[in-house]
Amino acid sequence: MRRLRRSEPLRSLVRETSVEPGDLIYPLFLCPGEGIRHAVGSMPGVFNLSIDEAVREAEEAASLGIGGLLLFGLPATKDEQGTGAWDENGIVQQGLRAIRQSAASRKLVLIADVCLCEYTSHGHCGIVHETRDGWTVENDPTLDLLARTAASLALAGADVVAPSDMMDGRVGAIRAALDKAGCADTPILSYASKFASAFYGPFREAADSAPQFGDRKTYQMDGANLREAMREIELDLDEGADMLLMKPAMPYLDVIHAARERFGVPIGAYQVSGEYSMLQAAFERGWLDRDRTILESLLGIRRAGADFAVTYFAKDAARLLN
Ligand SMILES: [Zn+2]
Repeated sequence: MRRLRRSEPLRSLVRETSVEPGDLIYPLFLCPGEGIRHAVGSMPGVFNLSIDEAVREAEEAASLGIGGLLLFGLPATKDEQGTGAWDENGIVQQGLRAIRQSAASRKLVLIADVCLCEYTSHGHCGIVHETRDGWTVENDPTLDLLARTAASLALAGADVVAPSDMMDGRVGAIRAALDKAGCADTPILSYASKFASAFYGPFREAADSAPQFGDRKTYQMDGANLREAMREIELDLDEGADMLLMKPAMPYLDVIHAARERFGVPIGAYQVSGEYSMLQAAFERGWLDRDRTILESLLGIRRAGADFAVTYFAKDAARLLN
């Protein structure tokens, strides 16, 4: 076997999997104001960005050949229902319009996250209701709000909408709302089998979306369940999902692989905040080689079967690959 490993040209010739800048999606967190780059403490190199700064990031991402952006928003105010999510002048809607005006948008796929947790005062992904047994997140009343949010983001200029809430039936509700709003061409990238994961911890600081009570285990999936993940994906595809986004990536590579074997649709995987932060912590201590580890972590995701990866390392990786 070693004959084909003798030189880099030989290794390159027989390499089975590749990572290209165009396979990478760069997440951005938009906040109100101007000239703001607020560092996220638990995610070195990640910032809350005012829209003018986000446009600059978009231009840099486009010049590096990155495939697209995934946009999250930190609204100025929050309320029980998360009205900021579907406000025509919401933070992401404004951001989309601004990025659309830049030449960068012709080279990037603009993906808008669809959820309520960044916009609700309680930090859950749907409407909460108090029952005798405590608080519950109500499924069906939440669907209308998610559908309105998706339509609003598509009208503001999103190329793709990406529901991450994990309410049952939301893909169907969003498809109907998009079609009704004249956005029949807008695809849905569904986080079909999003697991309740400790690896989302740093994101909650970045997006200011930590639940104020309870956790998300009644709607996000149990990390032990692979067959259930396949059922979730089947249901979302039946409801009209065009692509899948698997989340998290590294601790769930087997789930990505199982989805790849079973479904023909394009699949992305999200290298989530905790995956990023733990690597950054090791780089800071000199425990891991930064450049090689970044590329190896993304190669593993591609080899498992993901067509593209959402990663906070997108710019670093693109620089290494260019
Ligand atoms: Zn959410």
